[in-house]
Amino acid sequence: MGKILTARNMNKCIGCYSCMLACARLVHRSFSLQKSCIQIRTRGGLQSKLVADICRGCSQPACAEACRIRALVPREGGGVKLNARKCIGCGDCVEACPVKTIRLDEETRLPLICKHCGICAKFCPHGILSLEVSPHA
Ligand code: SF4
Repeated sequence: MGKILTARNMNKCIGCYSCMLACARLVHRSFSLQKSCIQIRTRGGLQSKLVADICRGCSQPACAEACRIRALVPREGGGVKLNARKCIGCGDCVEACPVKTIRLDEETRLPLICKHCGICAKFCPHGILSLEVSPHA
């Protein structure tokens, strides 16, 4: 059964970006944090609380529904899988994502799609990230 990435207790996040670097380096073979599927950012405002932009593993993913050529298909347990060979980089999935966590890779023009592999969670020093069984699974 597939699991999805979850961020709890974001109040413990120190913004070290270890999770982003782990995703960029180990999944995308890059030093660029832009390649990371998880993005840590401030909410803005004076308190500058941190939030994690991550794929929510929707059971009926709007991104896959928006993909006209079915380069994105639903993944068992939640989320989607990308067929990079089919993708034409149109960005319809980016527009359709209700939580705006999909971005197009500036180099490849392919969407950066979280695989829910959990690499980021392994490198979080505060145990904020974890893989959990989706409530939709
Ligand atoms: S690794 Fe953990 S503490 Fe560091 S930025 Fe990511 S979520 Fe925050």
